Amino acid sequence: MSEVIHHYVNGRIAEGRSGNFGDVYNPALGEVIRRVAFASEQEVRGAVASAREAFPAWAATPPLRRARVMFRLKQLLEAKIDELAALMTEEHGKTVSDAKGSITRGIEVVEFACGIPHLLKGEYTEDVGTGVDSYSVRQPLGVVAGITPFNFPAMIPLWMSPVAIACGNSFILKPSEKDPSFSLRLAEYYKEAGLPDGVFNVVQGDKVAVNAILDDPDIQAVSFVGATATAEYIYRTGCAHNKRVQALGGAKNHMIVLPDADMEQATDAIMGAAYGSAGERCMAISVAVAVGDQVADDLIERLSPQVRGLKVGPGTDPDVEMGPLNNKQLYDKVMGLIDTGVKEGAELTVDGRGLTLQGYENGYFMGGSIFDRVTPDMEIYKQEIFGPVLSVVRAPDYGAAVDMVNGHEYGNGTAIFTRDGDAARHFANAAQIGMVGINVPIPVPMAFHSFGGWKRSLFGDHHMHGPEGVRFYTKLKTMTARWPTGIRSGAEYTMPLM
Ligand code: NAD
Repeated sequence: MSEVIHHYVNGRIAEGRSGNFGDVYNPALGEVIRRVAFASEQEVRGAVASAREAFPAWAATPPLRRARVMFRLKQLLEAKIDELAALMTEEHGKTVSDAKGSITRGIEVVEFACGIPHLLKGEYTEDVGTGVDSYSVRQPLGVVAGITPFNFPAMIPLWMSPVAIACGNSFILKPSEKDPSFSLRLAEYYKEAGLPDGVFNVVQGDKVAVNAILDDPDIQAVSFVGATATAEYIYRTGCAHNKRVQALGGAKNHMIVLPDADMEQATDAIMGAAYGSAGERCMAISVAVAVGDQVADDLIERLSPQVRGLKVGPGTDPDVEMGPLNNKQLYDKVMGLIDTGVKEGAELTVDGRGLTLQGYENGYFMGGSIFDRVTPDMEIYKQEIFGPVLSVVRAPDYGAAVDMVNGHEYGNGTAIFTRDGDAARHFANAAQIGMVGINVPIPVPMAFHSFGGWKRSLFGDHHMHGPEGVRFYTKLKTMTARWPTGIRSGAEYTMPLM
C-alpha cells in the first residue's frame, strides 16, 4: 500500500512535505487502502498564493467564457461517473447507485453554474434623478475556501466550487481526510475543462490546514459543511478574521406522520430516508413523530420487518441496500448511542447491533435499528446519531408534534405526511426549519434553489448554491452616474434630493 493522495496547487499535484499523513480506509474491509498527506500551514499559504495570483485574470474573464468551462466540466464528470462512483464506494462505503445519485446532484450545481452570465446580470435604473442613472453589479470576492465533510465527498465540493469559480473567484478546497480522492479527480477535470492554473486548488489535511485557512488574510470567504461543533468553531474563527462565512452543521430531522397519511407511502419514505446511505446524511430522517398511538403502532408494525430485512453488505454489491458506516469512530459512537437508548428506557424494537458478514468481518457494518417510545429528554433524541437508527416519538396531537420539531436545537430539514392540506400549509409556515417536505421525506432543494438549515444547523446568513450561493460568493457594488448635460444646479450643501 503505497498510494498517497497529495495536494493540488497551480494546476499540478503538489507533493505533501509536512511529514504528516492520515490513513484512508475501505470501510467494507476495515483496511487502510491509501494515505493522505496533511498540509502544514506553509503548504496552505503556498496554495493561497497561487490562488491569489490567478484571481485577477480569472475575475476579468467574461462570464460567458467562465460558463464554457462549466459546460465542459459537466461533460467530463458525466463521462467519468461510473469510475467516480466506484472510487466513492471504496472510500466512503455507500452503495454504487447511491454514490452515482450524489454525483448527479453535484453535476446539477455545475449545470446551474453554466447559467452564470444570466445570474450575474445586475440591475439598472434610468433617471434615478434628472440625467442620473444608477446600476448595480456583483463582483467576485477574491480567494475563497471550502471545507467539506466525509459523507458527500463529491456533492458538497460541487455545491461550492462551481458557483464560486463561475462568479470569478479562485478556490481552495480542503476535503475530508476520510475520502479525499475525489478532490484530485475534480482538480484534473477542471484543468481539462480549460480552467486556468491556480483557480482551483486542493489542500488535504486536518485541523492544521483548516486553521491555516481560517487565519489567512488573503482568503475572503469560507464555506463549510460538517458537524455543528466544527461549524460553530469555523464560523466564530472565520468571522473573527473578518471573513464571510457560511457554516452548515448537523441535524436531527423529524418526520411528522398524521393519522390521515397514506401509511404505505409514509413507511416507504421512512425506510429510504432513515436507512439510505446508512443514515449518514444530514437530511436523513432520524425521528418519526407519530401523532397518536395508533399511528405509532401501525408504523412500528410496518417498519420492523422491513428494517430486519434490509440487505446490508459491501456497496459494490448491486443488490445491497445499505453499506457499512464510514469509519470505526462513527461505528463505535452509533453502537454507544444504541446502548445509551436502551439504558434510557427507549424500546429497541429492532436491534441492528452484532451484525457480521462473511468475508467482511472487519468492516463497519451494522443492521438498521428502531427505537420506540423515545422522549425528548433522552440523549438519543437530543444527539445527531448519524447512523441507521430511527427514533419513533409518540405525540398526542398535531400541536405537540410541531412543538417537538421547533423545540429541537437543530433545524436542517423536516417533513409532514398527511392528506390534510390545511395542516400541511400550517406546518410549512410554522416549522422553524430551513427545508420542509410535504409528503417528501428528504426535501433537498434542487441546484437552482438554495440548501441550508436554521438554528444550530447553519451559522451565517447564506444558504448554499442557487441564488444564495451567487450572493455569498459576490459583493454588491452600485454606481450612480451623471454625464455633463449643460444643466447646472450649482454646489449643493444639503442632502442631494433627486
Ligand atoms: P466534521 O465536522 O468532523 O468534519 C468536517 C470537516 O472539518 C473536515 O474537512 C474535517 O477535516 C474538518 N474538521 C474536523 N474537525 C475539525 C476541527 N476540530 N477543527 C478544524 N477542522 C476540523 O464532520 P464529518 O464527520 O466529516 O461530517 C459529518 C457531519 O457533517 C454530520 O454532523 C452531518 O450532519 C454534517 N453534514 C451537514 C450537512 C449540511 O448540509 N448541514 C451536510 C453534510 C454533512
